[in-house]
Amino acid sequence: MRYVKIYKEKIYDFLERLKNYGKLYAPVKISEKFYDRREIEDVKQIAFDYNRTITPAKRFFIPPCEEMFEIDIENAEYKEKIDEVEPFVLFGLHACEIVALRILDGVYLDEKYPDIYYERRRKAGIIVGLSCLPDEYCFCNLWRTDFVDIGFDLFLHELPDGFLVRVGSPRGHKIVDENLDLFAEVKQEDIDAFKAFEEKRQKMFKYTGSFDNIRYILELTMQDEIWEEEAKKCLGCGNCTLTCPTCRCYDVQDIPDINGKSGKRIRFWDSCQFKSHGMVAGGHNFRPTKKDRFINRYVCKTAYFYPLGTSYCVGCGNCTYFCPANIDYLGNLIKIRGAEVKNA
Ligand code: SF4
Ligand code: SF4
Repeated sequence: MRYVKIYKEKIYDFLERLKNYGKLYAPVKISEKFYDRREIEDVKQIAFDYNRTITPAKRFFIPPCEEMFEIDIENAEYKEKIDEVEPFVLFGLHACEIVALRILDGVYLDEKYPDIYYERRRKAGIIVGLSCLPDEYCFCNLWRTDFVDIGFDLFLHELPDGFLVRVGSPRGHKIVDENLDLFAEVKQEDIDAFKAFEEKRQKMFKYTGSFDNIRYILELTMQDEIWEEEAKKCLGCGNCTLTCPTCRCYDVQDIPDINGKSGKRIRFWDSCQFKSHGMVAGGHNFRPTKKDRFINRYVCKTAYFYPLGTSYCVGCGNCTYFCPANIDYLGNLIKIRGAEVKNA
């Protein structure tokens, strides 16, 4: 891997230059408590110390609602609506968010039948990662998704006087080569600072241990009282899945025009926490109770994602942070997992 350094005084020039590669999106503070990724006019708006955004990065690749086809009902034909995707740059993704995109790749980029809408946006998106320090909601260390090796073009690690940059793709090399005046060589003191940052980061996680067998323990404890009690608190609002960087369920609707001759097919984000999610033809619902739906999310997120050797949860903590009923997803996993996960 290639490593370079960028000094703090050049970081805004670098961000400005990133705009040469496409529209720049980065985290900005949007209210007292919340951050979100927005298109950047003034690079000084960018927040470097955010922990999470109110919408996950998946929205750049799977919009909350999109038109897939135009339908010609009279002639029984359809035309896929594949718009040109302009290149864009996503700055400031944390390691867990980059792993989350790779999980989505596993789902959407099937070798034989890739999702063309997702694929085009994925190719157009330049990913620039940013190191972070965990807050009380983060537990990516338990899934080993707190550091990422691939899936980015550039990854910036904070140093006292700048950033150590890992170059992760041919596109990342090109960006560095075309802006060599902004970069410097990595020195021993930078390597020492990088190691110190990583050590500090590890120590800040609230819990240590491994979640490797959680999925089996979950299956074995599905009848425990805790699920009944926690499900009672749940409002079924779907916030946990909509803010989850790996939740990917969508619904599809065909909408005819008033003339009855044409129409369109749309797809939009869905949530397994909605009662309608399990509804099938004939009115049968295969997850009729709130408890069924509640526990389904835990089973789904802890399921094993074989290509990456991780689970479908990357430990970002969004589902707990944004839950209006204060349901603690990690707390519930720890309750059933027992003592091996301990307070650091
Ligand atoms: S965000 Fe909380 S209340 Fe809403 S569906 Fe998820 S667990 Fe239930
Ligand atoms: S289940 Fe919760 S903690 Fe895990 S990836 Fe989704 S939002 Fe993040």
